[in-house]
Amino acid sequence: AVSPRDVASLRPNQRTRRVNVGGVPMGGGAPCVVQSMLNAPADDVEANLRQIRALEAAGCEVVRMAIPRRAYLDQFAEVCAKSPLPVVADVHVDAGIAIEAARRGAAKLRINPGNIGGWEKTDEVIEAARAAHIPIRVGVNAGSLDDALKARADLTLPEKLAASAVEYVRHFEQRDFGDVVVSAKAHDVQATIATYRALAQEIPQVPLHIGITEAGTLMQGVIKSACGLGILLNEGIGDTMRISLTDEPTEEVRACWMLLAALDLRRRGPEIISCPTCGRCQVNLIDLAKKVDGRLANRVEPVKVAVMGCVVNGPGEAADADLGVACGAGSGVVFKRGEVLRKVPEADIVDALMEELEKLV
Ligand code: SF4
Repeated sequence: AVSPRDVASLRPNQRTRRVNVGGVPMGGGAPCVVQSMLNAPADDVEANLRQIRALEAAGCEVVRMAIPRRAYLDQFAEVCAKSPLPVVADVHVDAGIAIEAARRGAAKLRINPGNIGGWEKTDEVIEAARAAHIPIRVGVNAGSLDDALKARADLTLPEKLAASAVEYVRHFEQRDFGDVVVSAKAHDVQATIATYRALAQEIPQVPLHIGITEAGTLMQGVIKSACGLGILLNEGIGDTMRISLTDEPTEEVRACWMLLAALDLRRRGPEIISCPTCGRCQVNLIDLAKKVDGRLANRVEPVKVAVMGCVVNGPGEAADADLGVACGAGSGVVFKRGEVLRKVPEADIVDALMEELEKLV
């Protein structure tokens, strides 16, 4: 038995209940699950499967697919049947679609009880998920709070979001359905942090899906998400994450992994150590680092690769790298864990690094 003192020492994401999303464990101390959402047309099975394969190669563990119309349920079922990753059905407004998706292969349902047609319809979705042995994510967001809650002047936005999510969780639990994950996202970073902190306090048993919604294009979206999710993850809040970007879904997955690695929570794929360049640099280092980044994009080995602008500071500052290059005038010295291997012309640096990486792994 776990003593109350031991429980108190657990991080929030170790206290949550474990749910199973198509074989991927979520919550209860499992590693934070990386997910993304498909944006191919919902009726194009091949395009969705292509995107799922690309996401899988990038390290995505769960994908979500919108089903905007009942007519697309056949395509959804086919994607589920052929997908190498668990597929979550994302449904708004029409409870009938969620019920049918549960019967036809969804690994999880994502609904917003606020727009699914009232408590009666919500209960029908709960029964469909129970019969299919799949969890439901209750996804609340700032744009779809119910009118009564929205109108409350005495509550802040985080209080409204948390109150809404908690009310739904209580309803699910009254129906003896505990297979629930909750998200309550806002596009404001501080509001999102405050909301998830409140949820971790008020419903500590429920796994949390964290994210900043409508975070923006690549640069802004990554920065807002890294701020918000980084703070939450560092506090042990968050059982699964999505970094929402107005960009390719594979970029969302790369950003998730980079954030998890930066916090030393999970690692997948290489980390690049590259200098910002200065007046000592005599090669096109920015271009070189981008090329190395591109060639390493889908590798899974957790190696550190250094791309440094000069030999003055380069090898010393990247001494803990597994592999690296320190550049000189039109050339570079390739080194492995601080030991010099060979000198190559600038044009051959990327290939030389990749060759040495193959030998290393
Ligand atoms: Fe400048 Fe060399 Fe440092 Fe790069 S490694 S910033 S080129 S001193």
